[in-house]
Amino acid sequence: MSNKKLTTSWGAPVGDNQNSMTAGHRGPTLIQDVHLLEKLAHFNRERVPERVVHAKGAGAHGVFTVTNPEIAKYTKAAFLSAAGKETPMFIRFSTVAGESGSADTVRDPRGFAVKFYTEEGNYDLVGNNTPVFFIRDAIKFPDFIHTQKRHPQTHLKNPNAIWDFWSLSPESLHQVTILMSDRGIPATFRHMHGFGSHTFKWVNAQGDAVWVKYHFKTEQGVKNLDVDLATKLAGENPDYHTEDLFNAIENGDFPAWKLCVQIMPIEDANTYRFDPFDVTKVWSQKDYPLIEVGRMVLNRNPENYFAEVEQATFSPGSFVPGIEASPDKMLQGRLFAYSDAHRYRVGANHNTLPVNRPVAEVNNNQRDGSMRADGNGGGSVYYEPNSYGGPTESPQDKPSPFVVSGLADSAAYDHNDHYTQPGDLYRLLTPDERTRLVENIVGAMMPVEKDEIKVRQIGHWFKADLELGQRIAEGLGLPVPQGV
Ligand code: NDP
Repeated sequence: MSNKKLTTSWGAPVGDNQNSMTAGHRGPTLIQDVHLLEKLAHFNRERVPERVVHAKGAGAHGVFTVTNPEIAKYTKAAFLSAAGKETPMFIRFSTVAGESGSADTVRDPRGFAVKFYTEEGNYDLVGNNTPVFFIRDAIKFPDFIHTQKRHPQTHLKNPNAIWDFWSLSPESLHQVTILMSDRGIPATFRHMHGFGSHTFKWVNAQGDAVWVKYHFKTEQGVKNLDVDLATKLAGENPDYHTEDLFNAIENGDFPAWKLCVQIMPIEDANTYRFDPFDVTKVWSQKDYPLIEVGRMVLNRNPENYFAEVEQATFSPGSFVPGIEASPDKMLQGRLFAYSDAHRYRVGANHNTLPVNRPVAEVNNNQRDGSMRADGNGGGSVYYEPNSYGGPTESPQDKPSPFVVSGLADSAAYDHNDHYTQPGDLYRLLTPDERTRLVENIVGAMMPVEKDEIKVRQIGHWFKADLELGQRIAEGLGLPVPQGV
């Protein structure tokens, strides 16, 4: 028996937690049973809105250690300043399209969101297990996600919408090819790589900048699930990946990733054969080889899922000095949209919750808002500039200035080769991997009702690789599109 008294949320002892207070033995129940009212009313409010994307996920705490002393020459970020330097971090893995109770072992990209608690504030790297994305302009994101969600009438998943949108948005071909490959269903969260996906800018202590892309390489090795096993697991244990991560850490089998970067000189962005800010493209590692930065080890499970995983909020705009945005149009939209989602879902004060709270001191003039639980700045000065010794700006921490030019316009990307890189990917697969890729694509496209959509999509694969297009067309029993 515990020697602690059960209490209400206002701290008063509860006399009876088994029986509600009734008028007479039979009732009815009395409204003055405020413990009952509070208990039921709180229960009704136990859920915050689930994330509109990446709703199903699992998280863990860990530590990031710098292994390469040379990295400091590219960025002044303090947490990367010296070999051996350790920074606590939190990660959340997720699927994208399903609801928070959906199965883990579906074909879907996996979210790979990392929060580094640095001494200069939190740095969030909010990526996926794929190096590219389906679209390259944030203006297309709500439409894209609608196609991944449920039909407004039937409430069923809708392959027509999915393939209609992809076939009309050929920039998606690279990511769709990765998704349909074996890596579209990882064996566990531990057996997949992570990518920052976007291009970012690093700036060093002298103010010199480079473009950078992040790769987390799994030390467990890449392993994927056989499709039939994944389907079986989705029914038998929909939380398979969640369970695997928790148990591995609980058993002391701490998963680890090596963080590497590709670094591109600023001026190369004007001449590289792909637009380096286009998130549907990778930078070839033959052009920009991986450079080791450090090692991430996950070594502690959350104490409480809701407090730490569900309330964790990541934003690709949570930068620290030395790390800045690039003009990637998908990133630019996300810089607004992620924090806005958190303000809606968790509240304006989401960054004061323990899992999101920086280890760096927070000094600003934001006040009030719902669920302000941290003292709200007390009686301290609440505006700036002021004559009362309040916190002041630090000009040395301004983002680096950069040149802009051209017309303000809703302009498309200049580069429209959506085919070379998915073709390169097909050509680097083994014969068995190629066969499974074709089978996965054919199986996924079979339910599409309109041949027009299927033929249009097959045309894209023909442009990527003739053999790939031919095999998919044959699998679907459709002719080779004209003009390819
Ligand atoms: P590289 O040979 O330099 O790199 C190939 C990359 O592909 C490696 O990162 C490798 O990662 C990864 N890879 C290997 N097998 C598979 C697979 N079955 N499924 C998915 N990825 C795999 O060539 P390039 O850099 O020129 O890239 C060629 C193609 O590789 C690209 O068009 C792209 O589709 C794909 N790719 C490229 C990446 C990049 O950053 N350049 C990253 C991931 C994929 P590993 O050995 O760790 O498995």
